[in-house]
Formats: sequence, structure tokens, C-alpha cells
Amino acid sequence: MTKVITDVVCPFCGTLCDDLAITVSDDGKQIIDCQNACAIGAEKFLHTSQGHGRVTRPRKRQPDGTYKEITYDEAIEYTAQMLAKAKKTLWYGWASTSCEAMAIGHKVAEKAGTMVDNCATVCHGSSLLAIQDVGVPSCTLGEVKNRADRVVFWGCNPAHAHPRHMSRYSIFPRGFFTTKGHKGRKIICVDCRYTDTAKCADEFIQIDQSYDYEVLDAFRTVARGQPIPDVVGGVPKEKIIKAVETLKEGRFGVIFFGMGLTHTLGRNHNIDIAINLTRDLNDYTKFCIVAMRGHWNVTGSGQVLSWQYGFPYCVDLTRRTHARYQPGDTSSVDLLRRKEVDACICIASDIGAHFPIEATRHMAQIPSVCIDPHINLTTEISDVHIPVALVGVEVPGCAYRMDNVPMACRKVVDPPEGMLTDEELLEKIYVRLCEIMGDA
Ligand code: SF4
Repeated sequence: MTKVITDVVCPFCGTLCDDLAITVSDDGKQIIDCQNACAIGAEKFLHTSQGHGRVTRPRKRQPDGTYKEITYDEAIEYTAQMLAKAKKTLWYGWASTSCEAMAIGHKVAEKAGTMVDNCATVCHGSSLLAIQDVGVPSCTLGEVKNRADRVVFWGCNPAHAHPRHMSRYSIFPRGFFTTKGHKGRKIICVDCRYTDTAKCADEFIQIDQSYDYEVLDAFRTVARGQPIPDVVGGVPKEKIIKAVETLKEGRFGVIFFGMGLTHTLGRNHNIDIAINLTRDLNDYTKFCIVAMRGHWNVTGSGQVLSWQYGFPYCVDLTRRTHARYQPGDTSSVDLLRRKEVDACICIASDIGAHFPIEATRHMAQIPSVCIDPHINLTTEISDVHIPVALVGVEVPGCAYRMDNVPMACRKVVDPPEGMLTDEELLEKIYVRLCEIMGDA
């Protein structure tokens, strides 16, 4: 006998598709089938039951480099002692856990006086800086589905990174005011290479690498009726003029941008000018801009940090009395490269896979803990690896979609017996830390 759980939210990418149907065994221990998800989303559910890469108990690295299984109590003791002894601990990650777990983790971080940073530091941190500078005229993905007839993908490739984004929201679906589906939409893709998303676009504009700022500036200039040079960033002016006319003629438009914009030359200034182009287009029609956030709850981490401390990432809690924020100074990569932290916790993310080698090397040389359901590159350089239940599969929790809409993720199966959730683990670390620091 099996049962089907419907309306399940996919905990993989920032699209947070909420229409999955998961078939589970009657005893609630095994996932049999996953419907409606894309290949990468389905894999997150199906591999859970097959146990790939799962360890069910904490492990501690031995002097010879091998790992020995330890108890959760021993792992909690190690983590609490490390936090109490370190002068400055970096606590990085949070993108693949629930907002509830983040709130408890930040309580521990506040108590120990650590640095707290999330994956935005290596993806959309520049977007957050630009939004703080100039604001953001944004909308929900539901509005895109129901209203948008002009869609721009700039420096992003949802065909690979957010596979159902185009079918659920941005290109193909029929909405309340978009009854013709993709036939009623004009899609423009701007990128330095021809991607699979570009194949779905009506117009592909190939720009020279790192000339995004110049091309966006040309778009703004044309939108204001001013002349531009014959070629800007490798794009002929006729192409830019035609694209701007297409955007101005729409009823509702949206610009989706990704790391092809946040990580090319100009960084936050690229986002700044993209937001200002959106503003300019609002002189002619309704236009919005949305960041293509990657990890499924990286947006939630920025939200929770913001409502707790006023800053979305790179938060310095070492003063204990108040939070400080100085990206470039209090950001994880810089702290590790400058060897400024003497302990590190990586939770629900993977420093080893995403950080520059000097930063990763320093993490490998200081006391470190990795809290993650799976073995990954960071667990292999950490002193202690603490496995936890998978949020959105084995534990329910709140997550924020890329458009800042909070969603309730469901639990579909039980975690392996005796395995702690992020929330339980962090609460136990907090209790032990209070005992060590004399504030039970
Ligand atoms: S597009 Fe993203 S959220 Fe949707 S099913 Fe695929 S991985 Fe999951």
C-alpha cells in the first residue's frame, strides 16, 4: 500500500515549485515516486530513500585523516566548546535549511559572538547592495504568470538552473491576462553566450563579456530618446533600439537577472543600473525586476537576518551589544582569506565547493564543524561533520521563494531513526553553550 502527498514544495532551487505529488510507502519511511518535479528536484526526493551519500551519525576526523563515528552529544560538546573558546568564529551557509532553524542558529551566534554570513556573499550579495542603494520595483512570480507579456532574462539560464521557472511562470503558462501563453509574450535573452534559455527567446542579444553595464546604459539612453554609438558592448545599436521599443510596447514587463550580471565587472553597479532601467521603463508601461536566487532558501536567510539584525548578510555579532555590517570586511571569503577567524561552522551549504582555494585552505586549518545532511567537499575538510534531517523532505519548515514569498515546506517521510533536525541540534548547542559560558 502507498499514499500520495500532494501540494508538496520542492526544496531545491529558488523557484520553490509547490505542486509536487510524492508517493510514499504506507509506513511513511520510503519515497516511491515523485511527480511534477524537474529532474534535479525529483532527485532530491528520490535519492533520500535510496540513501545515497547519507551518513546517519556525526563523524570526527582523526589525526590520520580518517573519520570515526561519534555520538550527537559528543558532537554538540565539541561545537559548543569550539564556539566558547574561539576569539572569532565564522558561521556561514543557511541557504538549504528552514527559517525556523536560522532563527535558533542566530540565537547561538549572538550568544557566542560570531560572524554570520550566507550564500549571498558569493551570489546575489551585489544585488542586495544595489537594492539598499536604489530600492527595487519588484513583483511576485504569480504576477509574472498572470500579467507579463515582456520578459527579459539577463545573465541567467533558468533552463538549467531553475528548470520549471519558464513553464510555471515566465514563458509558457497561460495566466489571467496572459491567455495565449508563450504566444502572447515577447522573450528577450541577454547573455555573453548562446544558452538553452536563449533558444526559447524571440530575441537573443549576445554581448561582450563584462560589458553589461555599458549595454544597460545604452538601453537607458535609448529609453530616454537619446542617441547611442553604433556598437555598444558588441551589440549593434539597431538591435538595442528594437529591443527597447519591444519592451516599451508591452503591458507588463519583467527583468530576471542572475549571476551573469551580479558577478561580471561592475557587480552591484550592474544591478543598480538594471533597476534604474526598470524605473525608466515605468515611464511607458509597468515594469518589474526580480533576482534569480539559486539555493531554495537563500532568500529566507536574508529575510531572517534582516528582521533580526537589520542586515541581509555579512553580519558581525562579535560586539554582542549590536550588529555590524561591512561587506568586503565582514564577508566570509574575505574573513577566511585574511585568516581573521579562528573557527568555522558551515551549515546547509558547501564552502569547499564554492569558495576560492585560499579561503577553503584556511578553513581546513582551523577548528571547524559542518552541519549538513550529506557528505560534501566541506564535510571532508571539517573536524566534525554533523548530519541532520533534510528540511522540506523529512522536516517541515518555512522558506522564501526568489520573489520573497514565504512558503510552508512539508514533511513527506520520517528521517532516519535517531537523527536530529537542524532546529533540535542548534537548540541543544545553545543550551550547552549557555552552560559553558555560565548563563544557563
Ligand atoms: S524548478 Fe526548482 S523548485 Fe521546481 S522542481 Fe525543479 S528544482 Fe524543484
